[in-house]
Amino acid sequence: MPVAARRPAGLFGDASGLCSSADPSMVFRPATTEQVADIVRACTAEGRALTIQGGLTGLAGGAVPAPGDVVISLAQMNRLEDFDTVGGTATVQAGMVLETLCALVEEQGWYFPLDCGARGSCQIGGNVATNAGGNRVLRYGTMRELVLGLEVVRADGTVLTMLNQGLKNNTGIDLKHLFIGSEGTLGVITRVVLRLFPKPERRYSALLALDTFEQLTKILKRARGSLPELSSFEVMWKDYLQAAAAALDKTPPFNASFPLYILLETEGRNSPEEAAKIQDFLGELLEAELVQDIIVPQNEEQAAQLWKFRDAIGEILRDMQPYVAFDVGISLPALPAFIDSVTAELSQTWPEARSLLFGHLGDGNLHLSTGPHAPENIVAVEELVYRAVQKVQGSISAEHGIGRVKKAFLKYSRSESELALMRELKQVLDPTGCLNAQRVIDTP
Ligand code: ZN
Repeated sequence: MPVAARRPAGLFGDASGLCSSADPSMVFRPATTEQVADIVRACTAEGRALTIQGGLTGLAGGAVPAPGDVVISLAQMNRLEDFDTVGGTATVQAGMVLETLCALVEEQGWYFPLDCGARGSCQIGGNVATNAGGNRVLRYGTMRELVLGLEVVRADGTVLTMLNQGLKNNTGIDLKHLFIGSEGTLGVITRVVLRLFPKPERRYSALLALDTFEQLTKILKRARGSLPELSSFEVMWKDYLQAAAAALDKTPPFNASFPLYILLETEGRNSPEEAAKIQDFLGELLEAELVQDIIVPQNEEQAAQLWKFRDAIGEILRDMQPYVAFDVGISLPALPAFIDSVTAELSQTWPEARSLLFGHLGDGNLHLSTGPHAPENIVAVEELVYRAVQKVQGSISAEHGIGRVKKAFLKYSRSESELALMRELKQVLDPTGCLNAQRVIDTP
């Protein structure tokens, strides 16, 4: 598609930085499923390409319309329709903002654990369509594990109501999974039944400094065994933490500098026993010489200060433009060699660019950001990294999705037969190819 210069995310662009070069032909903000169905039915009948928009926080360009597209924004469909405070489920319309939902259920002692930097603007429908991940996948899974039921408008305008509320339902093919993570290419998600958890009384965090990746893998195994409440295992490499401190204008948390840092978090009871369990765990790490230093925040405010370093990627990237931000999935044994070879190749080929690393390493999800890169080199940078991902059978997108910006590289993570089946499914569910046209896979 034609791509114009970057401009702020709006109807024409999203958080990927990709922008449409011309206006959409029409923008609809339906308030009901029936209105969505009418619009989709009419567009399919007329062969018009549709762009489905949520909170425009996606990082793969999936919500960016091609010139002349019909845009459906789900923003008006933002109500909590049903809240089962006994069993712990919430039925929401697709346009509900994640943070709003979290606040609403927490008022009643329930908890929705999906969390990501875009929490204040991203919408549940978009979270489902992209199978969002984020900071707590290690304990609660991705969005796929948090969805019990869905309502979807199909390309022909029929409404598929699958508002299941139970955790177990083994009645034939579980159709909701066709739509979760397919990025709006197979249907428009209009309602979602979400799985809730009792609200944890307290979070405990600790920042660990270490010398080697081997220490990191040992700590992860021990943490999974000793801390059943482990909810996050976030890793920052030295250059990332330094860049975060500089971008935030804050003193780095440790006086000395270390190659690797782990920010871990548990969620559980607010009790001396719970705090002691974490203290014991950290003490064992020190005894086994698996960590060089540890910071244990004394309260939630101090913990929030530590999380600011981890969440500073937006501020950091402002100084690296134009940058390329990767979101790859690599198995832990392959990760050190992958990082060494990719960062070495990047710095040899483009010495003026720097590469920063952090990730949800509990899930094998690495975020690599590199920049600045001349716009004409960006495809070559992507090619270099994705070929390296292919060599270790990794995933070119662990959590952000394919959208428009990674479509050309999907072949590095999916076989020809997988791609063929994806095309067949698209053909069956959207024969005219109107729904989020030109995303994820090319159709005939
Ligand atoms: Zn992430």
